[in-house]
Amino acid sequence: MESTTHRRRALKADPAAQLALLDLQELDARTDLLRHQRETLPEIAEIASLTAARAELDGKRRDAQIAVDDLTAEQAKVDADVEQVKTRRKRDQDRMDQGLISNPKDLERMQGELESLQRRITSLEDDELEVMARLEDAQQELDSLTAQVAAADERLAALGAARDTRTAELDEELRTLADERGPAVAAIPEDLLALYDRLRASKGVAVGALRARECGGCRLSLDPSELASIRAAAPDEVIRHEECQRILVRTPESGL
Ligand SMILES: [Zn+2]
Repeated sequence: MESTTHRRRALKADPAAQLALLDLQELDARTDLLRHQRETLPEIAEIASLTAARAELDGKRRDAQIAVDDLTAEQAKVDADVEQVKTRRKRDQDRMDQGLISNPKDLERMQGELESLQRRITSLEDDELEVMARLEDAQQELDSLTAQVAAADERLAALGAARDTRTAELDEELRTLADERGPAVAAIPEDLLALYDRLRASKGVAVGALRARECGGCRLSLDPSELASIRAAAPDEVIRHEECQRILVRTPESGL
Protein backbone atom coordinates (compact mmCIF):
# COMPACT_ATOMS: atom_id res chain seq x y z
CA MET A 1 0.00 0.00 0.00
CA GLU A 2 1.39 3.34 -0.99
CA SER A 3 1.91 5.70 1.87
CA THR A 4 -0.37 8.68 1.92
CA THR A 5 1.12 10.35 5.01
CA HIS A 6 2.65 13.22 3.05
CA ARG A 7 -0.68 13.94 1.37
CA ARG A 8 -2.36 14.88 4.65
CA ARG A 9 -1.68 18.54 4.20
CA ALA A 10 -4.79 19.94 5.78
CA LEU A 11 -3.14 20.85 9.07
CA LYS A 12 -0.07 22.99 9.61
CA ALA A 13 1.45 24.04 12.89
CA ASP A 14 4.71 25.48 14.07
CA PRO A 15 7.16 22.67 15.01
CA ALA A 16 7.36 24.16 18.51
CA ALA A 17 3.58 23.85 18.81
CA GLN A 18 3.82 20.23 17.64
CA LEU A 19 6.44 19.52 20.31
CA ALA A 20 4.21 21.28 22.87
CA LEU A 21 1.59 18.61 22.13
CA LEU A 22 3.93 16.03 23.67
CA ASP A 23 4.18 18.11 26.85
CA LEU A 24 0.41 18.54 26.93
CA GLN A 25 -0.08 14.83 26.47
CA GLU A 26 2.28 14.10 29.34
CA LEU A 27 0.32 16.46 31.60
CA ASP A 28 -2.99 14.91 30.54
CA ALA A 29 -1.68 11.37 31.01
CA ARG A 30 -0.44 12.26 34.47
CA THR A 31 -3.81 13.85 35.24
CA ASP A 32 -5.66 10.72 34.06
CA LEU A 33 -3.42 8.56 36.22
CA LEU A 34 -4.00 10.69 39.32
CA ARG A 35 -7.75 10.76 38.74
CA HIS A 36 -7.75 6.99 38.35
CA GLN A 37 -5.75 6.64 41.57
CA ARG A 38 -8.20 8.96 43.29
CA GLU A 39 -11.17 6.84 42.23
CA THR A 40 -9.54 3.50 42.96
CA LEU A 41 -7.85 4.13 46.29
CA PRO A 42 -7.57 0.77 48.10
CA GLU A 43 -9.31 2.37 51.09
CA ILE A 44 -12.45 2.92 48.98
CA ALA A 45 -12.86 -0.81 48.25
CA GLU A 46 -12.03 -1.73 51.83
CA ILE A 47 -14.57 0.76 53.17
CA ALA A 48 -17.24 -0.68 50.86
CA SER A 49 -16.65 -4.28 51.91
CA LEU A 50 -16.26 -3.39 55.58
CA THR A 51 -19.45 -1.32 55.52
CA ALA A 52 -21.33 -4.34 54.15
CA ALA A 53 -19.74 -6.61 56.77
CA ARG A 54 -20.61 -4.13 59.50
CA ALA A 55 -24.25 -3.99 58.40
CA GLU A 56 -24.42 -7.79 58.62
CA LEU A 57 -22.81 -7.77 62.07
CA ASP A 58 -25.15 -5.05 63.25
CA GLY A 59 -28.15 -7.10 62.06
CA LYS A 60 -26.88 -10.06 64.10
CA ARG A 61 -26.24 -7.75 67.03
CA ARG A 62 -29.84 -6.52 66.94
CA ASP A 63 -31.09 -10.15 66.84
CA ALA A 64 -28.84 -10.96 69.81
CA GLN A 65 -30.24 -7.97 71.71
CA ILE A 66 -33.78 -9.22 71.08
CA ALA A 67 -32.78 -12.69 72.34
CA VAL A 68 -31.27 -11.16 75.49
CA ASP A 69 -34.39 -9.03 76.08
CA ASP A 70 -36.69 -12.03 75.57
CA LEU A 71 -34.68 -14.24 77.92
CA THR A 72 -34.48 -11.47 80.53
CA ALA A 73 -38.29 -11.22 80.47
CA GLU A 74 -38.56 -15.03 80.60
CA GLN A 75 -36.24 -15.14 83.61
CA ALA A 76 -38.26 -12.48 85.43
CA LYS A 77 -41.40 -14.48 84.81
CA VAL A 78 -39.90 -17.77 86.10
CA ASP A 79 -38.50 -15.90 89.14
CA ALA A 80 -41.96 -14.48 89.85
CA ASP A 81 -43.55 -17.93 89.42
CA VAL A 82 -41.09 -19.47 91.89
CA GLU A 83 -41.78 -16.70 94.40
CA GLN A 84 -45.52 -17.13 94.02
CA VAL A 85 -45.43 -20.90 94.63
CA LYS A 86 -43.01 -20.45 97.55
CA THR A 87 -45.36 -17.90 99.13
CA ARG A 88 -48.24 -20.34 98.79
CA ARG A 89 -46.20 -23.17 100.28
CA LYS A 90 -45.20 -20.96 103.22
CA ARG A 91 -48.81 -19.97 103.84
CA ASP A 92 -49.90 -23.63 103.87
CA GLN A 93 -46.95 -24.61 106.03
CA ASP A 94 -47.72 -21.77 108.50
CA ARG A 95 -51.34 -22.85 108.77
CA MET A 96 -50.24 -26.38 109.55
CA ASP A 97 -47.57 -25.22 112.00
CA GLN A 98 -50.10 -23.04 113.78
CA GLY A 99 -52.30 -26.06 114.20
CA LEU A 100 -55.11 -24.44 112.28
CA ILE A 101 -55.83 -27.72 110.51
CA SER A 102 -56.83 -30.44 112.85
CA ASN A 103 -59.03 -32.65 110.72
CA PRO A 104 -56.82 -35.65 109.71
CA LYS A 105 -58.40 -35.74 106.27
CA ASP A 106 -57.65 -32.06 105.74
CA LEU A 107 -54.15 -32.54 107.11
CA GLU A 108 -53.54 -35.37 104.64
CA ARG A 109 -54.83 -33.23 101.77
CA MET A 110 -52.65 -30.32 102.91
CA GLN A 111 -49.61 -32.60 103.12
CA GLY A 112 -50.29 -33.76 99.59
CA GLU A 113 -50.61 -30.15 98.41
CA LEU A 114 -47.32 -29.20 100.07
CA GLU A 115 -45.56 -32.06 98.28
CA SER A 116 -47.11 -31.01 95.02
CA LEU A 117 -46.01 -27.40 95.59
CA GLN A 118 -42.48 -28.58 96.36
CA ARG A 119 -42.37 -30.55 93.09
CA ARG A 120 -43.61 -27.47 91.29
CA ILE A 121 -40.88 -25.33 92.90
CA THR A 122 -38.19 -27.84 91.95
CA SER A 123 -39.43 -27.90 88.37
CA LEU A 124 -39.58 -24.10 88.17
CA GLU A 125 -36.09 -23.79 89.64
CA ASP A 126 -34.83 -26.16 86.94
CA ASP A 127 -36.47 -23.86 84.37
CA GLU A 128 -34.86 -20.89 86.12
CA LEU A 129 -31.40 -22.44 85.82
CA GLU A 130 -31.97 -23.31 82.17
CA VAL A 131 -33.14 -19.78 81.32
CA MET A 132 -30.16 -18.32 83.20
CA ALA A 133 -27.75 -20.48 81.19
CA ARG A 134 -29.40 -19.48 77.92
CA LEU A 135 -29.37 -15.82 78.94
CA GLU A 136 -25.68 -16.06 79.79
CA ASP A 137 -24.91 -17.51 76.33
CA ALA A 138 -27.07 -14.87 74.61
CA GLN A 139 -25.39 -12.09 76.59
CA GLN A 140 -21.97 -13.41 75.59
CA GLU A 141 -23.02 -13.49 71.95
CA LEU A 142 -24.38 -9.93 72.23
CA ASP A 143 -21.16 -8.69 73.89
CA SER A 144 -19.04 -10.30 71.18
CA LEU A 145 -21.13 -8.81 68.35
CA THR A 146 -21.17 -5.38 70.01
CA ALA A 147 -17.37 -5.50 70.23
CA GLN A 148 -17.11 -6.57 66.58
CA VAL A 149 -19.35 -3.71 65.44
CA ALA A 150 -17.27 -1.26 67.50
CA ALA A 151 -14.04 -2.63 65.98
CA ALA A 152 -15.51 -2.25 62.49
CA ASP A 153 -16.51 1.35 63.28
CA GLU A 154 -13.01 2.10 64.51
CA ARG A 155 -11.45 0.60 61.38
CA LEU A 156 -13.93 2.46 59.16
CA ALA A 157 -13.02 5.76 60.81
CA ALA A 158 -9.30 5.08 60.25
CA LEU A 159 -9.91 4.08 56.63
CA GLY A 160 -12.04 7.16 56.02
CA ALA A 161 -9.32 9.41 57.41
CA ALA A 162 -6.65 7.68 55.28
CA ARG A 163 -8.84 8.01 52.18
CA ASP A 164 -9.46 11.70 52.86
CA THR A 165 -5.75 12.41 53.39
CA ARG A 166 -4.74 10.61 50.19
CA THR A 167 -7.57 12.27 48.24
CA ALA A 168 -6.46 15.70 49.43
CA GLU A 169 -2.88 14.94 48.35
CA LEU A 170 -4.04 13.83 44.91
CA ASP A 171 -6.30 16.88 44.59
CA GLU A 172 -3.32 19.09 45.33
CA GLU A 173 -1.28 17.35 42.62
CA LEU A 174 -4.21 17.63 40.21
CA ARG A 175 -4.49 21.36 40.90
CA THR A 176 -0.79 21.79 40.11
CA LEU A 177 -1.22 19.90 36.84
CA ALA A 178 -4.28 22.00 35.95
CA ASP A 179 -2.20 25.14 36.55
CA GLU A 180 0.48 23.81 34.20
CA ARG A 181 -2.03 22.81 31.56
CA GLY A 182 -3.12 26.38 30.83
CA PRO A 183 0.24 27.60 29.45
CA ALA A 184 0.75 24.24 27.67
CA VAL A 185 -2.56 24.60 25.83
CA ALA A 186 -1.86 28.26 25.00
CA ALA A 187 1.14 27.15 22.92
CA ILE A 188 -1.02 25.02 20.61
CA PRO A 189 -3.25 26.34 17.81
CA GLU A 190 -6.95 25.61 18.06
CA ASP A 191 -7.27 23.24 15.08
CA LEU A 192 -4.33 21.12 16.25
CA LEU A 193 -5.76 21.06 19.76
CA ALA A 194 -9.13 19.93 18.38
CA LEU A 195 -7.44 17.06 16.53
CA TYR A 196 -5.52 16.17 19.66
CA ASP A 197 -8.72 16.12 21.75
CA ARG A 198 -10.50 13.97 19.17
CA LEU A 199 -7.67 11.43 18.95
CA ARG A 200 -7.27 11.40 22.69
CA ALA A 201 -10.95 10.65 23.16
CA SER A 202 -10.84 7.71 20.75
CA LYS A 203 -7.35 6.34 21.38
CA GLY A 204 -6.21 7.57 24.77
CA VAL A 205 -2.76 8.35 23.38
CA ALA A 206 -3.17 11.01 20.67
CA VAL A 207 0.41 11.92 19.88
CA GLY A 208 3.54 9.90 19.29
CA ALA A 209 7.05 11.26 19.15
CA LEU A 210 8.97 9.93 16.17
CA ARG A 211 12.12 8.48 17.69
CA ALA A 212 14.56 6.07 16.10
CA ARG A 213 12.09 5.61 13.24
CA GLU A 214 9.47 4.38 15.66
CA CYS A 215 6.03 5.86 16.39
CA GLY A 216 5.83 6.68 20.09
CA GLY A 217 2.08 6.16 19.94
CA CYS A 218 1.83 2.61 18.65
CA ARG A 219 5.49 1.56 18.94
CA LEU A 220 5.60 0.36 15.35
CA SER A 221 8.61 1.07 13.15
CA LEU A 222 7.86 3.16 10.09
CA ASP A 223 8.60 1.69 6.70
CA PRO A 224 11.19 3.37 4.47
CA SER A 225 8.66 4.92 2.10
CA GLU A 226 6.73 6.53 4.93
CA LEU A 227 10.01 7.81 6.42
CA ALA A 228 10.92 9.23 3.02
CA SER A 229 7.66 11.14 2.74
CA ILE A 230 8.03 12.50 6.26
CA ARG A 231 11.59 13.55 5.43
CA ALA A 232 10.22 15.43 2.43
CA ALA A 233 7.44 17.11 4.39
CA ALA A 234 7.70 20.73 5.52
CA PRO A 235 8.56 21.17 9.23
CA ASP A 236 5.21 22.83 9.90
CA GLU A 237 3.23 20.02 8.34
CA VAL A 238 1.32 18.00 10.92
CA ILE A 239 2.19 14.38 10.20
CA ARG A 240 -0.15 11.50 10.98
CA HIS A 241 1.14 7.97 11.35
CA GLU A 242 -0.51 5.99 8.56
CA GLU A 243 -0.68 2.85 10.72
CA CYS A 244 -2.35 4.23 13.87
CA GLN A 245 -3.61 7.64 12.68
CA ARG A 246 -1.96 9.37 15.62
CA ILE A 247 -0.17 12.69 15.28
CA LEU A 248 3.50 11.99 14.72
CA VAL A 249 5.83 14.66 16.08
CA ARG A 250 9.31 14.88 14.65
CA THR A 251 12.11 15.13 17.23
CA PRO A 252 15.88 15.51 16.92
CA GLU A 253 16.06 11.73 17.52
CA SER A 254 13.60 10.82 14.78
CA GLY A 255 16.22 9.06 12.72
CA LEU A 256 15.11 10.65 9.47
ZN1 LIG B 1 1.64 4.96 15.36
